Amino acid sequence: MDYFQYKDGEIFAEDLKISDIASKVGTPFYCYSSATLKRHYKVFTDAFAGQDLLICYALKANSNQAIISSFAKLGSGADVVSIGEIKRAIMAGIPAQKIVYSGVAKTEPEMKYALEQGIYQFNIESIPEIHQLSKTATSLGKTAHIAFRINPDVDAKTHAKISTGKAENKFGIPLSKARKIYAETAKLANIKIVGVDLHIGSQLTDLAPFREAFSRTAALIEDLRADGHEISRIDLGGGLGIPYDRDEDRPPLPVEYAQMVKETVGHLGCQIIIEPGRLLVGNAGILVSKVIYKKQGEERKFLIIDAAMNDLIRPSMYEAYHDIAPAVMGRNEHEVCDIVGPVCETGDTFAVQRELQKFDTGDLIIIRSAGAYGAVMSSTYNTRALIPEILVKGSEFAIVRKRVTQEEIIALDTVPDWIK
Ligand SMILES: *Cc1c(COP(=O)(O)O)cnc(C)c1O
Repeated sequence: MDYFQYKDGEIFAEDLKISDIASKVGTPFYCYSSATLKRHYKVFTDAFAGQDLLICYALKANSNQAIISSFAKLGSGADVVSIGEIKRAIMAGIPAQKIVYSGVAKTEPEMKYALEQGIYQFNIESIPEIHQLSKTATSLGKTAHIAFRINPDVDAKTHAKISTGKAENKFGIPLSKARKIYAETAKLANIKIVGVDLHIGSQLTDLAPFREAFSRTAALIEDLRADGHEISRIDLGGGLGIPYDRDEDRPPLPVEYAQMVKETVGHLGCQIIIEPGRLLVGNAGILVSKVIYKKQGEERKFLIIDAAMNDLIRPSMYEAYHDIAPAVMGRNEHEVCDIVGPVCETGDTFAVQRELQKFDTGDLIIIRSAGAYGAVMSSTYNTRALIPEILVKGSEFAIVRKRVTQEEIIALDTVPDWIK
């Protein structure tokens, strides 16, 4: 459930009319709802009541400081994948002791920074990486707490670009080599083995791949304990899907996911770390845009809007579906259109042959489920201004990232004297 609902035919974010925000900040913009963020966090944590759980919000889904701070206030930790995200997490008030650090290519300066901050755990993805971490930790006189990311070789049955747990993917160490690698790692200086980690992909809409992967990991933990390692944590990654199509999609509920976690790894007595991203923020955000032109092509009608693929790349990159709706309901007539942006690429398409209520030029249009992997993946392609992000709380709103103008973007470039 989210707090973007119609009242008397007009879409609201909590108690604010979207059209009122649009007239103040201009379009396009991202709009997030505080109450929805809070609700999603609570539903997820409540599902795990009684289990020893650390939620580490996956910053990469939406790393606006206001979003991270909202979760920090609720007690969340952070899953980070770069030094930039460590800085964001700490600045937003997440204690270093609740930060887990994932990613296939942590560099020495990044490791050094993370060690100096005293983060909770490094999720290690290769043998060269663990050697580098041992070296860096030794040089600083610190101990790094680590888990290896296991690649359990399961098919997450999600889009190929966001599937991460198959043998052919670049992530993690193979399950079959894990015992040997843990044994070698136990001999390394300034490294303390504390757990096992995995993350098999994103936008999973079925529990079966999770169940398979978690069961394999639980069996590995029993083997590792038999080998003499102290394994006190299991990090299950993120990946639980959300309904993008509100009429069709029925992804597993957090309570069903939590029950499956209990069944597969509950007996181990480990602290359970989960790294949800999309689940917490996806449906807590919408993209608000405006119709610039209606165009009748040879075969199709096009609705050309002022948002584009540089603002929200998911449809072009992952063939992702997003619900699209008018800000004002009430015109009964429907028509079928392609909804496209102004960028010079055919891939700049939000929806193909979608039946919607008839729009006029200048009408506001909303793209739902845009809170995750939206603003964070935006670019200035076509020298388009970076669009603002708005956070609503009740009847208040704040601009939590300002629009970055074309002038500011151009000013980042320099022309060397030898061209002038
Ligand atoms: C992307 C990512 C997540 C979050 O995935 P969601 O599908 O957004 O929940 C969690 N952990 C790791 C290691 C990731 O790369």
